[in-house]
Amino acid sequence: MKMFLDFLQKLLFPWQCLGCGEFDAVLCPRCRQELEFLEMRSWASIRGNNQLNMYSFFEYQEPSGLVRRLIKLVKYQSMASVGEFFSDLLLEKKRLFRKDQGFEGKLYYIPVPLHQRRYCERGFNQAELLANVFKKIWPGEVLTNLLTRVEYTTAQASLDREGRLENLRGKFKLNQEVLQKLDKNAKFILVDDVITTGSTMWAMVEELKKMGISKYLALSLARD
Ligand SMILES: [Zn+2]
Repeated sequence: MKMFLDFLQKLLFPWQCLGCGEFDAVLCPRCRQELEFLEMRSWASIRGNNQLNMYSFFEYQEPSGLVRRLIKLVKYQSMASVGEFFSDLLLEKKRLFRKDQGFEGKLYYIPVPLHQRRYCERGFNQAELLANVFKKIWPGEVLTNLLTRVEYTTAQASLDREGRLENLRGKFKLNQEVLQKLDKNAKFILVDDVITTGSTMWAMVEELKKMGISKYLALSLARD
């Protein structure tokens, strides 16, 4: 059924290259080559005695605008073919990550949860879609119900840095029942489409730390 729906959607809305607008590919070979030059980003965010390592496949603000279009694609399209496209694209980028960056051993992926209301508005969670893509690159388990959002937060974009942190503090709730079945020594990978200030990631880390989880990192498609 899903395949049939994909087929139907493709028939009604044929793919156009995100780079140059040519038909019949999400990204044509020429534009895909342009992406080759966009580097993976890694950086450490430090708060007190804690460090959170963050990794992004791309820089959000690059001159061609291609990455911004990729993000739009993942935000508004939930089709299986979008997942396949990203798996294929990002697998090539795997070589940019080093072994010691932590993508080994037992891995759990935690997509940044959407609030129920927003989930209903949109119909899917793009972070979850990405977690399933990342899982194909570094095998692991995607946990969609370990953390939930407890309140509908004021749109983050309208707040300054401090406001953003305040807005998020204590806004994630950890499901004890789910946690009990997990290996706490595994690495927990927090997943989002774009990392901006990192405050969402830190709010999630706070919840994990309370439960004695000490190995975590953040991974996103792009860094803004
Ligand atoms: Zn193109």
